[in-house]
Amino acid sequence: MDQLPEKPKALIIDDSAFQRHMLSVVCTEAGYLTVLVNNGVEAVAALQEMSFKLIVSDLEMPEMDGVQLIRELAKLEVKSKIVFVSGHSDSLLGAAKELAEQFGLSIAGTLKKPYVPENFLQLLLDESLLNPDATLNPRYKGQFQGMLSKRTVIQGIEEGAIIPFYQPKICRVQKKLMGFECLARWDTGNGRVLGPGSFIPTAEQYSLMPELTDAIIHQALADMTVWQTAGHRLPVSINISTDDLKDIAFPDRLEHITHKHDIPPSRIVLEVTETKVMEEARECLEVMSRLRLRGFGFAIDDFGTGYASLKQLQYFPFTELKLDRSYVAAAINHRPSLAVLETGIQLARNLSLSCIAEGIETEEQAQFLVSLGCPQHQGFHYAKPLPRDAVLAWTNERFHNSSHGHKVRRNYDLSHQNQTISETKKNRYP
Ligand code: C2E
Ligand code: MG
Ligand code: MG
Repeated sequence: MDQLPEKPKALIIDDSAFQRHMLSVVCTEAGYLTVLVNNGVEAVAALQEMSFKLIVSDLEMPEMDGVQLIRELAKLEVKSKIVFVSGHSDSLLGAAKELAEQFGLSIAGTLKKPYVPENFLQLLLDESLLNPDATLNPRYKGQFQGMLSKRTVIQGIEEGAIIPFYQPKICRVQKKLMGFECLARWDTGNGRVLGPGSFIPTAEQYSLMPELTDAIIHQALADMTVWQTAGHRLPVSINISTDDLKDIAFPDRLEHITHKHDIPPSRIVLEVTETKVMEEARECLEVMSRLRLRGFGFAIDDFGTGYASLKQLQYFPFTELKLDRSYVAAAINHRPSLAVLETGIQLARNLSLSCIAEGIETEEQAQFLVSLGCPQHQGFHYAKPLPRDAVLAWTNERFHNSSHGHKVRRNYDLSHQNQTISETKKNRYP
């Protein structure tokens, strides 16, 4: 065992030889050295001998099932990322995940059998668990051909290929424009624009997020200055990563840039995803608190996708909570999703946070969210993310200044909904 090369290791636990093989093929392509075992007892023996970056475990196995294994992994204080695989219901996988989290284990995700290898690979990609020497099989190329390499991403950051797009945030009841969320895009230079899925996973994997964030922030603040000169003093939300929040120089850097552009920190909201910030809570809290003291706002992004409790959340200096779009899309017909939305809305109320629903795609969803007590919305129903040059025209067309300086709806009237919807559709950015 001592002679194993220094490659990250994945422990694969499944009583089916075929399943072990299939999981091993994907892990090998993701850059892992794999160790295959039959059941929990063998897994514990392997874990006592070496450490693993990744553990992939079936839930139903002889000798020791996956749920018993969870307790054993907790006893061993295993730090590996864990993926559970099972042919059982989603709720059982969800319960195993919940239990494991309660034991302090780090769960990367769950896979329901039968799964296709691409889904497993996608999960590893989403969780930044692809290793630098991953050699993807040509059959996955279709799926991953959009991913840019490390070298391309470094070059893109330096050469300004990463640009901000802006999606409006509106208050449906007050008919006000609340601000914009800044979303990174890759300008290929030949008229094509790529979404963040093409470069953010690479940037995360190679610790390039601080450079990417800086590039976006500089441009966003320059755009805000232009809009400010045109009379639009609107807040902009910027997505940041936990790497930024672990950088103790970040608060000074950000304050310096805002000062240089004459934008008050109170007009910037920094969005962090629930899962990531909770995983690295202690490391992030110091920088977040310092930024909050200087006046920057904080949004908890994709609420519902992580496991933040009221107790954890109250210690973070959040000012806003964003309900994840997967729950917004499902809630009308799916009670558990509705429960997540209701919890989020109530939590925001209890913690005095503003609450916004992401991913509103239909008028039905919009009205449903208003009826739940969440009138602030963002989504394709109102506008897709806009390139910087389209922002002023979009804003001027729909909103004018109220006597208080807010952007108030010019031609948006709930009593003329049909007309409004078709107008909105017509104006969506392709
Ligand atoms: P997010 O911050 O939750 O952003 C919302 C995402 O939902 C955006 O995807 C947006 O285009 C999409 N969206 C908005 N309304 C709708 C809708 O009605 N329907 C659907 N289907 N989608 C909608 P996008 O731009 O692809 O960004 C994906 C994620 O990438 C973001 O999720 C954020 O986590 C990350 N991201 C984007 N830009 C940056 C950045 O500059 N820095 C960092 N760290 N992360 C970024
Ligand atoms: Mg966001
Ligand atoms: Mg989100």
